[in-house]
Amino acid sequence: MRPRQLRALLALALPGAASAWRYHCKLCACDFDKLKNYDSHMVGKRHLHNVAAEQGVWDDWQASGWWFRGSVSREEVTREFSLDQFVDGLPGRSRSSTGRVLGSGVNDGQLDPGLMLGSLPDGKRAALWRYCRDLGRRCGRGPAPAAHAWPAMLAELEPRYCRVKELLESGET
Ligand SMILES: [Zn+2]
Repeated sequence: MRPRQLRALLALALPGAASAWRYHCKLCACDFDKLKNYDSHMVGKRHLHNVAAEQGVWDDWQASGWWFRGSVSREEVTREFSLDQFVDGLPGRSRSSTGRVLGSGVNDGQLDPGLMLGSLPDGKRAALWRYCRDLGRRCGRGPAPAAHAWPAMLAELEPRYCRVKELLESGET
C-alpha cells in the first residue's frame, strides 16, 4: 500500500458497506470482481511472492517474542496486511461521536488514537506484527544504517503504552 493511500485511509473515509467483490485471494487480502483478474493475480508477481514468503512469515511469527500469541491461526498472520481488514471492528473516533466501532456502516471514522497495542485482540495483534515486519524488511533493503532499526525497535516496544495509530503512521515516512 502506498503511503498516500494509507494516510487517506487513516484520516478520512474507512469504506464500510457490503462489498460486491466476487473473488477473493486470502493470502494477499485482495478482491476481484472478474474471474479474469483473479486468474491473472494468481500467477502474478505479488501473489507468487506471498506464496514463497508464507513459510518465512510463519517462522518469524513463532520467533516474535512478546508479540507471539498461540491462538493466532496461520492464515491470520501469513496473509498480507490490509488496513481495511485491520480496522474493521476496532474502536473509532469520528467527527460526530466517540466510541464507535469501525467497519460496516461507519464511513467517517478514524482509528481511536488512544487504542494501545496491548489491548488488541490476538488476530489484530498478529496483523499489526505482520505490518511492522514488512516495514522492517523494506528498511533493510537499502544501504541505510537503519537496516535493523525496525526489528530492534519493535523488540523494545512496551505493548501497553504503544499506540496502534502511531505505529501505523510511522510506516508512512
Ligand atoms: Zn494472492
